[in-house]
Amino acid sequence: MPPQIISGTAIAEKVLAELQAEITTLKAAGRTPGLAVVLVGDNPASRSYVRAKDRMCQKIGLHSEKLELPATTTQEELLTVVERLNNDPAIHGILVQSPPPKHIDEQAVILAINPAKDVDGFHPVNVGKLAIGDPSGFVPCTPLGCQRLLIEAGVETAGAHVVMLGRSMLVGKPFALLMMGKGKGGDATVTVAHSRTRDLRATMRSADVLVVAIGKANFVTADDVREGAVVIDVGINQIDDATNPCGYRLVGDVDFAGVAPKAAAITPVPGGVGPMTIAMLMANTVKACKLTGHEG
Ligand code: NAP
Repeated sequence: MPPQIISGTAIAEKVLAELQAEITTLKAAGRTPGLAVVLVGDNPASRSYVRAKDRMCQKIGLHSEKLELPATTTQEELLTVVERLNNDPAIHGILVQSPPPKHIDEQAVILAINPAKDVDGFHPVNVGKLAIGDPSGFVPCTPLGCQRLLIEAGVETAGAHVVMLGRSMLVGKPFALLMMGKGKGGDATVTVAHSRTRDLRATMRSADVLVVAIGKANFVTADDVREGAVVIDVGINQIDDATNPCGYRLVGDVDFAGVAPKAAAITPVPGGVGPMTIAMLMANTVKACKLTGHEG
């Protein structure tokens, strides 16, 4: 049977349509969710991410503030901006685009963001809430998007063996916590694998659900996946492609053409996890607005 292609594009559209309806209701009650996205420097990839987030806010009716600060911005100046946004009642979510220039201490900036406005879910308070299963916290957008893909695609994680390849704070670690959490979209038996894992290939083959976030183009091949497994590919890698006018194309960490025939369901790259990340940022901002005044 051909695999189910899990379309992040289609699922993100559905999520965004639901959010748009929620935003309309909130606005009617006099509460407009607001997101501030701060970019320091002129990294072209970061600039295009920030603009995409700003456009998405406008599309679904969120209030958005885009702050593009010069690369010479000092740590102190950036912390002053964060403090102003912390105190701005029109702003419910604050995101400082990563990576900042080298002279900025990214961890100090994360710590300066009010955890109730930390829609990236990187503040230790939110990491802690995820670990203890407190639903009032914010979960990083990419792993949250992966979980939503599994739920929307009808993949049962309860009792399943989920293998997470990669252990970053951005993807692997929070995703593992989500999967071992209790309730819908969780209750899995989780293995986290990384560069020091012994017999990595056998570990991947033992997965009912294999999620890959390592940043290595086409690393996972058909031999690494058991027949009927579900495969979620988080990786985004540029590889040379002379047939493309821009000279490259995007591929995931999974060799899609080789793995898809063996999989029960699989995400493509592009059009898989990517669109879900931005949709979950919007969802976290709406959640932050709804929680305002209901803290504690
Ligand atoms: P990262 O911080 O570099 O972490 C990579 C992880 O992969 C590390 O835990 C590393 O292990 C592990 N790893 C690397 N090479 C390995 C190997 N050969 N075998 C086993 N494990 C290996 O990366 P990240 O930020 O999590 O991102 C991973 C990928 O996801 C990248 O391609 C990134 O572009 C993509 N991404 C996509 C989205 C999206 O929206 N679609 C969002 C975020 C990231 P060690 O810890 O042992 O070094």
